[in-house]
Amino acid sequence: MANIVAIVGRPNVGKSTFFNRLVEKRQAIMDNEPGVTRDRHYGYAEWIGKFFTVIDTGGFVTGSEDKFESEIRKQVKLAIDEASVVIFMVDCRDGLTGFDKEFANVLRASKKPIFVAANKADTPDKSILAAEFYGLGLDSEIFPISAENGGGTGDLLDEVVKVFPSEGTEDPEAGIPKITIVGRPNVGKSSFLNALLGTERTIVTDEAGTTRDAIHTRYKLFGKDFILVDTAGVRKKGKVKDDVEFYSVLRSLRALEESDVVIIVIDAERGMESQDVNLISLAQRQGKGMVIMVNKWDLIEKDSKTSDKFKKDILEKLAPIDYIPIIFASVLEKQRIFQVVEKAVEVFENKTKKVQTSKLNDIMLREIEHYPPPSIKGKLIQIKYITQVNARFPSFAFFCNLPQYIQESYQRYLENKIREHFTFEGVPVRLIFRKK
Ligand code: GDP
Ligand code: GDP
Repeated sequence: MANIVAIVGRPNVGKSTFFNRLVEKRQAIMDNEPGVTRDRHYGYAEWIGKFFTVIDTGGFVTGSEDKFESEIRKQVKLAIDEASVVIFMVDCRDGLTGFDKEFANVLRASKKPIFVAANKADTPDKSILAAEFYGLGLDSEIFPISAENGGGTGDLLDEVVKVFPSEGTEDPEAGIPKITIVGRPNVGKSSFLNALLGTERTIVTDEAGTTRDAIHTRYKLFGKDFILVDTAGVRKKGKVKDDVEFYSVLRSLRALEESDVVIIVIDAERGMESQDVNLISLAQRQGKGMVIMVNKWDLIEKDSKTSDKFKKDILEKLAPIDYIPIIFASVLEKQRIFQVVEKAVEVFENKTKKVQTSKLNDIMLREIEHYPPPSIKGKLIQIKYITQVNARFPSFAFFCNLPQYIQESYQRYLENKIREHFTFEGVPVRLIFRKK
């Protein structure tokens, strides 16, 4: 059983503030943008090595308090049903309200472990006010917290993780690549997805709407496990009448955040467009793996040089980014569509691999000796030692005497050499220069 924590409580007590602190993402903020309905929010969080899913029920409760009986009660009940633990949030500054008491009644009926978080206890004198909430008559201890400054949240979480039904010490999806398909409207994203869905019947789970915003579908293909992160916008397009474009951009940004590798689909007839370039540079900054799929290749009249010309055009638009694999495919003719997925899995492996320090130093120090950093203002610059540091994507620390004097052109030389010797196709590589 999964560890799922639901945060409930009346509006404005600080639920989404706490949620954001837990998942350290800006999801809730994004959804407050006009034109997008704020819906249920899910995130993945960790406390002292235990992993859990958090539900912020704040999105349900947008109406006034007199709507409690109908909408709120129904929605909160749903969230509580899904949860294994409930954090009931109240507001120290407002004190105990009638609305809080109504919530407490719903919660008492649920029989789930409940923790009362008395929020906005920013200072010790405010914490004293928390005692008032024993008046709710719940069996729970009251935890004074400050979602804003973090005070008391550690004590609360220490207790919450103790009642988890499962160990939950690991992200169940850790080590399995999360892949997302993005691209402009009409490039063939849904067709691609359907082609994969249609021929591949070994779907392990389809968690649609159960634990996340985006749909995560797990597959096995040629013995490789992977998860397709699909944004609701991709499959249910046209559902949101206004702001479709805006909504789908928000959705793909979120999918991007949740993924390890992004497949950027472009239309062969239209070529690489500025939106694609923007998306790729965003993905690069986020350290995501990437594969470019040039779809509808069947529509192009070809000779032996066509694909090279295409590649050249793409690289020119992406310069200086030159490490992303490009695959020419046709979903219509089922040409190379599995190759795209295989490549994405390979890119994930590149993204997560670790180069042995001894090997890294052997090879790179030799390259540095062969072409040392040019001296600046008569100062000799020496790189002494290199190591790959733990990070979300391949990052290398170069220890040197004068890190501030390593020029950009030399950094590019080093990056090229790293790419040449240790395959990092499809992934951004970061170089860090430290003083030693
Ligand atoms: P929600 O409607 O329950 O999700 O509440 P929000 O998270 O949107 O917070 C409502 C308001 O309370 C916002 O203005 C927050 O900045 C504020 N708030 C949240 N947590 C704290 C806190 O710990 N201390 C103080 N002083 N204000 C807080
Ligand atoms: P999406 O908006 O990116 O999801 O694009 P769709 O999957 O809805 O495809 C848009 C149109 O392109 C549809 O009419 C598809 O049949 C067509 N299409 C998709 N892939 C190919 C392809 O490889 N070749 C050709 N000729 N048409 C394709």
